[in-house]
Amino acid sequence: MTQKVLILGAGYAGSVVANILAREFRNKIAKDELEVTILDKNDTNINQGGFTFIPFELYTPEDITRPRKKLISPRVKAFFGADGEVMNVDLQNKEITVKSDKKYTYDYLVIAMGCRADPDAVPGLTDDLNTFYTSMDDAFKVRDLVKNIEKGKVVVSVASMPVPCPGAPVKFTFMLESYLRNVKKVRDDVQLTLVWPMEPIGPPEFNKFVTSQMNEKGIEVLRNSPLSNVDASRKEITTKSGEKVNYDLLITVPPHKAPQVLIDAGLTDEKGWLSADKATLQYRGPAGNHDNVYVLGDLGPADILKTGIGAHYQAIAVSQSLKNDIHGNGIQTPYEGETGCPLVTELETPATPGRGYIATWKYSKPPEAFSTTKMGWFLYRMYYHIHWDISVKGLF
Ligand SMILES: Cc1cc2nc3c(=O)[nH]c(=O)nc-3n(C[C@H](O)[C@H](O)[C@H](O)COP(=O)(O)OP(=O)(O)OC[C@H]3O[C@@H](n4cnc5c(N)ncnc54)[C@H](O)[C@@H]3O)c2cc1C
Repeated sequence: MTQKVLILGAGYAGSVVANILAREFRNKIAKDELEVTILDKNDTNINQGGFTFIPFELYTPEDITRPRKKLISPRVKAFFGADGEVMNVDLQNKEITVKSDKKYTYDYLVIAMGCRADPDAVPGLTDDLNTFYTSMDDAFKVRDLVKNIEKGKVVVSVASMPVPCPGAPVKFTFMLESYLRNVKKVRDDVQLTLVWPMEPIGPPEFNKFVTSQMNEKGIEVLRNSPLSNVDASRKEITTKSGEKVNYDLLITVPPHKAPQVLIDAGLTDEKGWLSADKATLQYRGPAGNHDNVYVLGDLGPADILKTGIGAHYQAIAVSQSLKNDIHGNGIQTPYEGETGCPLVTELETPATPGRGYIATWKYSKPPEAFSTTKMGWFLYRMYYHIHWDISVKGLF
């Protein structure tokens, strides 16, 4: 009998699992003993991390997009569009329904459908929504706004947590500072404020370094300030503690949530995310405990950091557990919370070398003290080019 692995979502995490299984089980797949199927609602993979750089014209759309068919092994059955857009997930009957009404069954299911922005969750936000978080077009809109900054007050607001890559608005703010100082040379005429929903910005050493850099660069930081509402006519935001902050330009990271279809299917917990064992990533939630269902990436529990680096390590751990499931030895390979946050504190400009660092950590080991360097900047810039042929293909 053919065993079936079904992967929902061909973004970062789903693609890595599909490619690792296709390599490991090429013989079983050829003999029809195993079928690996992946579904996605569209046929283009976007490396969302590149959105942070689009406003500064450091990557092009071509750099950060690829057709999914070029990224997924031909041994994997891939369905994109109406045959791939998940409309219902029924864990009790092990059945997935897609937009075209086609149904898929499985022995093992990997749910890796990412998360999405929910700007309607903040009253007034859609009246003045400038964000590089949601799409290529939106990131280009921010580029145009940034190019036109001459003076005034720019506020970068992170509405709430969790969001994918909570470090992205931090590095965006540093890059904006560097751009205004070293490229546009208008920094003295611009007040820059980061409005942050929590007290710390990341784990202790990360917070310490970011705080010292924010002070050094004259960036005001308002902490513990989740966004409550936006009054576009007055150009004013109100935080949950009632503080009012005026702005000339507002750039926001909206609240995020799990895909609506998974919420409607009753799979999410009280915080709105898919609940899973933090080590094995097996589904544990309102729809019961399912050892054959793995939860991967941005839609996972609120207390697992949502980063591409984390999604990558989760995909490697789940792929190994699936190999063990299929080989029949039942050993679970734990995800140890490996994650990371690439930081940039300065752009490469005629006046500055560019400074970056890729901080990494795991559940049991927070990041150590670090500083940004020119080499860190170079490695992070280069990463976006190796992402497609090494990371997404699951080669490390
Ligand atoms: C602005 C920004 C900057 C970032 N910067 C970094 C960074 O510097 N470093 C870092 O590590 N991480 C970064 N991230 C986070 C990183 O992009 C995510 O953590 C990573 O993409 C998560 O992978 P995923 O597979 O869970 O989700 P995704 O890669 O988003 O994939 C989810 C897939 O599911 C599909 N899907 C959704 N709904 C359906 C449906 N109903 N049916 C079928 N398919 C569906 C989507 O089309 C998508 O292909 C950033 C994110 C953003 C937004």
